[in-house]
Amino acid sequence: MGERIYDVGIIGGGIVGLATAMALVKSGVNSVVILEAEAELAAHQTGNNSGVIHSGLYYKPGSLKALNCVAGREALYRFCREQGIAHQACGKLVVATRPDEIAALDALEKKGAANGLRKLRRLGAAELKEYEPHVAGIAGLWVGETGIVDYTQVCAKYAGIIRAGGGEIRLNFRVEGCRRDSGDLVLNSPAGAVRCRNLVNCAGLQSDRVARLCGVKPGLQIIPFRGEYYELLPGRRDLVRNLIYPVPDPRFPFLGVHFTRRIGGGVEAGPNAVLAFKRHGYKKTSFSLRDTAQFALYPGFWAMGLKFWKMGMGEFYRSFSKRAFVKALQRLVPGIQAGDLVPGGAGVRAQALEANGFLADDFRIKEAERMVHVLNAPSPAATASISIGESIAAMALKNFALAAKRR
Ligand SMILES: Cc1cc2nc3c(=O)[nH]c(=O)nc-3n(C[C@H](O)[C@H](O)[C@H](O)COP(=O)(O)OP(=O)(O)OC[C@H]3O[C@@H](n4cnc5c(N)ncnc54)[C@H](O)[C@@H]3O)c2cc1C
Repeated sequence: MGERIYDVGIIGGGIVGLATAMALVKSGVNSVVILEAEAELAAHQTGNNSGVIHSGLYYKPGSLKALNCVAGREALYRFCREQGIAHQACGKLVVATRPDEIAALDALEKKGAANGLRKLRRLGAAELKEYEPHVAGIAGLWVGETGIVDYTQVCAKYAGIIRAGGGEIRLNFRVEGCRRDSGDLVLNSPAGAVRCRNLVNCAGLQSDRVARLCGVKPGLQIIPFRGEYYELLPGRRDLVRNLIYPVPDPRFPFLGVHFTRRIGGGVEAGPNAVLAFKRHGYKKTSFSLRDTAQFALYPGFWAMGLKFWKMGMGEFYRSFSKRAFVKALQRLVPGIQAGDLVPGGAGVRAQALEANGFLADDFRIKEAERMVHVLNAPSPAATASISIGESIAAMALKNFALAAKRR
């Protein structure tokens, strides 16, 4: 039997790669293979995230984030109901604790309404306690559409649908090279080679590198930001009913440390956003010379540093000082004490940075001949996965069909 040639090879078995493969399989393209470097699916961003089904509150109306979050959220709730995945539309509370945050809260409320949220409720100081008795603030916004889920479980269901539809998943297959051969693309890894007609790059924290090794200039650089969590001790979980968030600083892409109830039980506090010196570095001591040198040599990094150095130093300080971390949490829930928290896990976010120092805000996808590269898929990409997967699959079908005609 000759070597198999797949119609589509997808690099990356996180939620975006899986959702894309699922959409392709559902649209009748079943000669699909997912190539995942790790021994399991969802090993990086997807499996280490906060487990929040975002509502669509934060995103610029009309942006890819806003459109895909809103559509993807509803699709995800439907998928969870159909597939029997544990989830809850528990809602969340955004709390303003200072008068200077009221304008930003107003802006959030407007954005949420523009993005079609129907379960928004503006609250005064006393009303906050109806939702979260231990919160203190001067005003708030209740967002009923927000929910919680375990994205690793969601991925397991996506994988089941892909396999049942004829797609394949290869684990322990780290793509290290890509060459064109007789009109096909040959993807090399230490585990062997796979031949495909087209490819989709969904490599998350490695997406810029994978683009380059496929001969495509990404036009941006992935900067890793670690998010560290604490967990509330079981006896203190009654401090938080559901999800409690601060009003985010609109100049910064991350949401600020918050409280999140997990669908599997427990309450987490965090994540912060600390510049990481290793793309897959989950510990404070994680360091990779290659990863660090790569961003340090990128011109946009220093431009970003100039803009955000003060905020960045604060995040570093909070990373090493539990007292400072607790102080940030006490703004929302004054009763919380350092002794109520134990260190939890961490995740690393892939944040795309442009050469001019701008943090790419929206999802970013780049097409090349027989290729689609997903270069920036930060939060809420897990929430939005079904919708993004369908968009990438549609883009791929169009691009690849054109490529096929040219052959
Ligand atoms: C701390 C944190 C909290 C978050 N909270 C939320 C949240 O509550 N809600 C939400 O919607 N979003 C959240 N997000 C964002 C969300 O998790 C990501 O947007 C989403 O998981 C991105 O999925 P992905 O498939 O693009 O990336 P990943 O999940 O990182 O998957 C990429 C995959 O590609 C593989 N790969 C890389 N290089 C190669 C290679 N050369 N060959 C083969 N495979 C390769 C990796 O091993 C990895 O499995 C959070 C993210 C983090 C980090």
